[in-house]
Amino acid sequence: MRTPVPDYLDEVLAELAADRAGAVADYIPQLADAAPDVLGVALTTVDGRTYSTGDDDVEFSIQSISKPFAYAAALTDRGPATVAATVGVEPSGEAFDELSLEGETHRPKNPMINAGALAVHHLLVSGTATSEERVARVVEFFSELAGRRLTVDESVYRSELQTAERNLAIAHMLRNYRVLAAPAHEVVDGYTRQCAVNVTVRDLAVMGATLANAGVHPVSGRRVVPAEVARRTLSVMAGCGMYDAAGDWLVRVGIPAKSGVSGGMLGALPGQLGLGTVSPRLDAHGNSVRGVAMFERLSRDMGMHLMEAEPYGSTVLRGSRREGDTTTYVMQGVVQFSGAERVLDRLSSDTIETPAVVLDLGRVDRFSDVGRRMILEGLRRLKLDGYDVAVIDPDTVLPDPDLGDGTWPGIRTGQD
Ligand code: GLN
Repeated sequence: MRTPVPDYLDEVLAELAADRAGAVADYIPQLADAAPDVLGVALTTVDGRTYSTGDDDVEFSIQSISKPFAYAAALTDRGPATVAATVGVEPSGEAFDELSLEGETHRPKNPMINAGALAVHHLLVSGTATSEERVARVVEFFSELAGRRLTVDESVYRSELQTAERNLAIAHMLRNYRVLAAPAHEVVDGYTRQCAVNVTVRDLAVMGATLANAGVHPVSGRRVVPAEVARRTLSVMAGCGMYDAAGDWLVRVGIPAKSGVSGGMLGALPGQLGLGTVSPRLDAHGNSVRGVAMFERLSRDMGMHLMEAEPYGSTVLRGSRREGDTTTYVMQGVVQFSGAERVLDRLSSDTIETPAVVLDLGRVDRFSDVGRRMILEGLRRLKLDGYDVAVIDPDTVLPDPDLGDGTWPGIRTGQD
């Protein structure tokens, strides 16, 4: 069998091929020369498979899509408290290049607008880092995420720097409020290089999949950022990634995303996949027209809306049986809060008439941290009630099952 996933992606592209709406960004002279008809999409699963179609090997400058990744790097380098003291996480509801800061603190409202992104770039590495060190950090970090060596497009960088008056104005304002310690032109220079790193949609998909996979690279298996950093970054993307269209985006599409003026878009669906699209013509918000359309189609046709609820917990308790002196509860799947709650509710409402209670974990894939703690607490309480408690755990999905008092439940093989 040939998997139909590439055919789905082909269909998405075919439907949009004729759409010529929007205009290529021209405030950066070099971008005005981009081939406007480029169209590509890529998807990477959190277990590392990439599907792509269309112009999937065309390179374009990452532009504002660099912002969430630079934010993740700064969070990793400096810690959440230092970063939060400098940049907020509130959607600004304003265009990406708005000169806006929070009233009292003068913090940029979020890392996705240019004011925030300049401040984030300045935070990279350490409080005493040089401009070269900050640039090297982002290029290396983006390369690690992409799984290949990425480079700065020098012509895009130079072209943007020649017309960077607005970003210089923002940086001077940040200097005025002591948000930046380094000279304004130095920070704008480094940030402009960060924006000029070339990527393909395949790079974006795998980079996004790392965020979707709680910070673990889906191909190399390496932890690139702490889980908390990935969670924070995705949260900010969900709230602020699409600038002044962010609220509408969350309702209509529901995929944490980030767009860039060269026409790229990044998406990351927690626990599932990363997405990359490219199509250079932009709408009035500065988002790719066909990129937005591709995301809308993927969300609608492939059920990728973040708020699309699945009853995750209801399937965790597969059933129960009574044999001799033992009542066995058979669990399955991924045990998070709602699944553990389901099991604990049954354990507390059933009248268990056997002296032994066994949890059969043979079909459980994984416990979340809270799922594990809840199930162990349930076993502890059953034990206090006088039951002889045990687990069947052939794959050790519940290692070191300490009941909080130094004792373990009995371990059974399932054959006894
Ligand atoms: N380098 C661009 C700028 O700062 C990025 C903007 C964008 O992609 N929205 O203006």
